[in-house]
Amino acid sequence: VSTDVDVLVVGAGPAGAATALQLARDGFDVTLADKKAFPRGKPCGEFLSPECLPYLRALGLEDLLTRLGAWRVRGMRLSTAAVASEGRFRRLPDRGEHAAHGYGVRREVFDDALVRAAIAAGVRFLPRHAFDALSLDDGGAVAGAALRGPDGALVHVGARWVVGADGVHSAVARALGLQRRIRWLDQFALTAHYRGVERFPAAEVHLLRGGFFAATTVDSGIYSVNLVVPRTALQQRGTATWDAFVHTQLVTAPALAARLGGATRLAPWRGVGPLGFTTTAPAVPGAALVGDAAGYVDPLTGEGIYFALFGARQLADSLAQALHRPAAATAALTDYARRRRSELAPRLFAARVLQRGLRHPWIVRTVVRALQRWPAVADLVVTLTGDTIHPRELLRPSFWRAFGAAT
Ligand SMILES: Cc1cc2nc3c(=O)[nH]c(=O)nc-3n(C[C@H](O)[C@H](O)[C@H](O)COP(=O)(O)OP(=O)(O)OC[C@H]3O[C@@H](n4cnc5c(N)ncnc54)[C@H](O)[C@@H]3O)c2cc1C
Repeated sequence: VSTDVDVLVVGAGPAGAATALQLARDGFDVTLADKKAFPRGKPCGEFLSPECLPYLRALGLEDLLTRLGAWRVRGMRLSTAAVASEGRFRRLPDRGEHAAHGYGVRREVFDDALVRAAIAAGVRFLPRHAFDALSLDDGGAVAGAALRGPDGALVHVGARWVVGADGVHSAVARALGLQRRIRWLDQFALTAHYRGVERFPAAEVHLLRGGFFAATTVDSGIYSVNLVVPRTALQQRGTATWDAFVHTQLVTAPALAARLGGATRLAPWRGVGPLGFTTTAPAVPGAALVGDAAGYVDPLTGEGIYFALFGARQLADSLAQALHRPAAATAALTDYARRRRSELAPRLFAARVLQRGLRHPWIVRTVVRALQRWPAVADLVVTLTGDTIHPRELLRPSFWRAFGAAT
C-alpha cells in the first residue's frame, strides 16, 4: 500500500499528536502512526507542569484537563529519609491563572484524548503501525517511510516531511543517524498505579542515593508512583521480584512507604530504560525530530510533557512555513532548532546537574535543608521546574520584584 501526504508523524505521544493536530488545523494532510493500539499507558510520573496549559489552549483544548478530571498539583515536595521541603508554584502577575498549579493525569487518558482531538481535526491515525525504514529520494532527502502494519505487511507512506516523535528510544532518530546515548546517565525506571492512597496536593520526589521515587495523585483518585535508579542498582536485584526490589528502595523513603501502607497496586510494575539520550540535530532535509525523540535527560523535574508540547508547537510552525514555501525550508527548520535550543538547553543542563548532584547524599541533604530553611527559594526552584519562567529571566532585576510580589 502506498499513500502520499504532506506530513507523516511517527509516534502518537504528546509530541506527535500535538504536532499532527496543529498541522491538520492549518490545513495540511497529516498521517499519524503509532506502533501501539490506543488507549495505551506510558511509563511516566504523569505530572503536567503548569506551562502545559497554554500549549493545550493554543490547540483548542483549554478545558481538556478539567474534562479528564486531572488532579490539581500546587507544588512539589522534596524529601530525603531525614528532611523534607515543599515549594509552591508561584503565579507571577503577567503569567495567567494557569500558572498557579500543575496537573496529575494518567497517560492512557491524556494521550488518548490528544489523539482523538487530532483525528477530529482531520488527521489519519494508523494504530499498530511500527516504523520500519525511511524512504529517500534521489538526492538523499527523506521522502517518506515504511511502516509495519498489524498483519505484518509493509505500508509505504510518501511524505514531504517525516516527523520522528517516537519517544526516547526513537527508531526514526536512529535511522537518521542522529541519536547518541548519554552513557553516564544510565537510569532505568519502574512505574505503577495505586489505589487507596490519600490524595496529596503536591507532587512528591523522594530522593535516594543516585535515584528517586516520584509520586503524584492523578485523575480518578489514583496515585502514580515511579522509581528511577541507575542500572547498577537494578543489577543488584538478583532474583528478587520487582515488589521486593521496590521495598528495598522504600527503606530510605519512609514518608512514601508510610503513604503506600495499605494501598493496592493496580497492575504489575512497568519498566523502561535506559533514559539518557541526545541527538546531534533535530532536523535534516525531509525529516525532523520532536519530544523525547529529539533528546531526553530525566524525569526528576517532571518537564518532559511540557518539552513535548513546546517542541510540537515550534516544529509545526516551522513545518507549515516549509510546506508553504519549500525554498525557505532550510531556514524554517534551522529556526526550529534554534528556538528549541534557546528554550530547552538551560533546562536540560539543569536536569543534568541535578542528576550529578543526586549521586552525593551530602549535596542532597544540604540542598533540601536549605530549601526547607528558605521557603521563597523552594518556591523559586519549583516555579522554575513548572516552566512558567525561564532561567534566563533570573538575570533581570524586574523579575525579582515580580517574584517577590507573586502569589
Ligand atoms: C519514569 C518516568 C517518569 C516521567 N515523569 C514525567 C512527569 O511526571 N512529567 C513529565 O512531564 N514528564 C515525565 N516523564 C517524561 C515524559 O514521559 C516524556 O518526556 C514524554 O512522554 C515525551 O512525549 P513524546 O510524545 O516525545 O514521547 P512518548 O510519550 O514516549 O510517545 C512516543 C510514542 O511513539 C510510539 N512509538 C515508539 N516507537 C515507535 C515505532 N518504532 N513506530 C511507531 N511508533 C512508535 C510509542 O508507542 C509512543 O506512543 C517521565 C518519563 C519517565 C521515563
